[in-house]
Amino acid sequence: MFSASDSHVSEVGPGLESQARIYTRSEHCISRAQISENALKVLQRLKKADYEAYLVGGCVRDLLLGREPKDFDVATNASPEQVKQVFRNCRIIGRRFRLAHVFFGREIIEVATFRGSEPEESDQHVIHEDGRLLRDNVFGTLEEDVWRRDFTVNALYYNIRDFSVVDYTGGMQDHANAVLRLIGDPNMRYREDPVRMLRAIRFAVKLGFTLHPQTEQPIYTQAELLKSIPAARLYDEVLKLFLSGYGVQTFEMLRHYGLFAMLFPATDKCLETQDHEFPRLFLIRALENSDSRFADGKSLTPYFLLAALLWEPLQLAANKRIEQGEHETLAYQNAANEVLSRQIKITAMPRHITQSMRDVWFLQGKFSKTFGARPYRLLEQPKFRAAYDFLQLRAETGGADPELVDWWARFQLADEETQRVMTAPPRGGNPKTRGKPRRYRGRKKSGTPQ
Ligand code: ATP
Ligand code: MG
Repeated sequence: MFSASDSHVSEVGPGLESQARIYTRSEHCISRAQISENALKVLQRLKKADYEAYLVGGCVRDLLLGREPKDFDVATNASPEQVKQVFRNCRIIGRRFRLAHVFFGREIIEVATFRGSEPEESDQHVIHEDGRLLRDNVFGTLEEDVWRRDFTVNALYYNIRDFSVVDYTGGMQDHANAVLRLIGDPNMRYREDPVRMLRAIRFAVKLGFTLHPQTEQPIYTQAELLKSIPAARLYDEVLKLFLSGYGVQTFEMLRHYGLFAMLFPATDKCLETQDHEFPRLFLIRALENSDSRFADGKSLTPYFLLAALLWEPLQLAANKRIEQGEHETLAYQNAANEVLSRQIKITAMPRHITQSMRDVWFLQGKFSKTFGARPYRLLEQPKFRAAYDFLQLRAETGGADPELVDWWARFQLADEETQRVMTAPPRGGNPKTRGKPRRYRGRKKSGTPQ
């Protein structure tokens, strides 16, 4: 098929290797049976209208691994307006770079016109003084389009005309070697767009690829560049990093490269000064929980994991306030405001997400109230289930009383009479102070919101 002989090439970029290598249909494993019917329709219709049409990006990379791609992206020499003329079910989107979306029920095929490489002084190609690329919205040819892509394995083009794969950057070779390599000068490419560092980690974990040494090395020293990225974009990236089924490994790798500290500085600080493996174990359990839900095809809500990620900073901030004499309930509310307002400046969580995080947090303190009407009220809370799962995770890692989890497990399943007995105040005792189930004192450092 192809040899591993040129794996010594460490940098690829325009001019360095501008000859495309074409892999004919018999030299690669992508079959049309693996491609979504709608994507094939788009490719065929563009071809029929005499345009060039290729599958490109993550879908080609995933097809080569025999995996089912998340979505199918098409690249063409037709302008968005020309694409719109070919498809009735098409909408042009985007301000920075206009794209055509072709709709087939719930499936959207994204069709992008080849992007060109405009000289730097052109007003179409704006570079910020720190090297970030702010705008690059000129159309070009396939050969130009290749070089603005991030990794060589993301720059492979599947040609609908002859079912070949076009490779300008050595992506097929890297793919066969399971190597993730940035196109061009890595330092410059990270400066242009620091999010590429996060993408490197995400793809390395997801694909099981290793980072090429020159792609890996600058990450150690350039993690700080992420500070310039708008919070809305970082939030989107965080969701992809942690909710795509590989959260645990991704977390470990982000920590290793100092990238986690850029995304969740308060959490990272807690991890640095951790007490008996806590809160690391709790975070790992929360991520494992998300990963296995993903593997089972269950729904994943971002707020649960985000609540876990910021749980320890919340404890720290609340305890500080309590020590200063603030009432516990108020201390937790103020601490939540403090922790969330700092975090949204980095990763802009939408309001409904931060509200759900608060709900999960505040309900934690209510689980210890097991007498009278309170347990019934708690059960009716919309976020009860999530809060209970959260309590369970805490208990599994030494942050809450396992007996309390057990009580709630029984209470939820019990019949009316048993529930009545379970919640009855003890004879002669004061329900507010009676000890069992009581506030957990297993961990010394911090308590739970009351
Ligand atoms: P997946 O969709 O599976 O997460 P993907 O590779 O398709 O992976 P997308 O974010 O959908 O990732 O991007 C599609 C393609 O666009 C990429 O494969 C890459 O070629 C290009 N691309 C995306 N983001 C960047 C970036 N920040 N810098 C350079 N090229 C990028
Ligand atoms: Mg994609």
